[in-house]
Amino acid sequence: MPLKKDGIMVILSSPSGAGKTTLVKLLAERKNFKISISHTTRKPREKETQNKDYYFVDELRFKELIRNDEFLEYAKVFNNLYGTTKSPVKEKLKNGENVIFDIDWQGADQIKNKKLDFKLITFFILPPSKEILFERLSNRDMKDKLIVEERMKEFSRDVLHWINYDYVIINDDLEVCYSKIVDLIESEISGITKNYDDNFIRSHVEKLTS
Ligand code: 5GP
Repeated sequence: MPLKKDGIMVILSSPSGAGKTTLVKLLAERKNFKISISHTTRKPREKETQNKDYYFVDELRFKELIRNDEFLEYAKVFNNLYGTTKSPVKEKLKNGENVIFDIDWQGADQIKNKKLDFKLITFFILPPSKEILFERLSNRDMKDKLIVEERMKEFSRDVLHWINYDYVIINDDLEVCYSKIVDLIESEISGITKNYDDNFIRSHVEKLTS
C-alpha cells in the first residue's frame, strides 16, 4: 500500500507529434511535478542541455547502468537507448514529491509491471487528426520528407498501445488537454477512478491510422 505522504507517479506517453513534452513542462511549472530525467545514448539536439533535458551518455556507460541494475525501466526507441534510473525517482517519491515521466509505451509497461508501492497513473496522448499530426511532424527539425513518412509509419505502430493506459486524451487544445489531465490526477488522488469512452478512442485511432 502506498503511504499517504508518498508522492505519486504520472506517466505521459504518446507517439511523436502529439504534443506531450509541453504538457510535461506545464505540469512541472504549475503543479510542481518533478520531471524524471532519463539517460539516453541519443546525441543532444540543438537547445538541449546535459543533465537537464537528459543525461546524455555513451552506449558503454548505458550498458554499465544496465549491468548494475540501476534502471527502473529502459528501452530502445528509434535506435537509441533510453532509461530511467531508480534511485532519484524513489528518493523524490519518498519525500512526498510527485514525479512525471515522459517515456514511451515500453517503459510505461515495465513500470506498470513492477507494481511498485507508489500510486501510478498513466496517460496516452493522441493528436486530434492525421493532418495535424503530419503538420506537427513536418514542422520539427525533421524537414526531410522521408523522415516524416517514417515517423508517420512509426506512429501507426506506436498508437496501438493506447489500450494499456489508464487514460487516453486527445490533444486538440493544449490548455483543455492540460486541464483534463489535472482533473483526472486530482480525482485519482481522491480515490475516484473515471472511465473514458473506449469506442470513441478506438474510432479516433482508426481515423488516425487509416
Ligand atoms: P526524444 O528522443 O524525442 O527525446 O524521445 C523519443 C522517445 O523516447 C519519446 O517517446 C520519449 O517519451 C521516449 N523516452 C524518453 N526517455 C525515456 C526513458 O527513459 N525510457 C523510455 N522507455 N522512453 C523514453
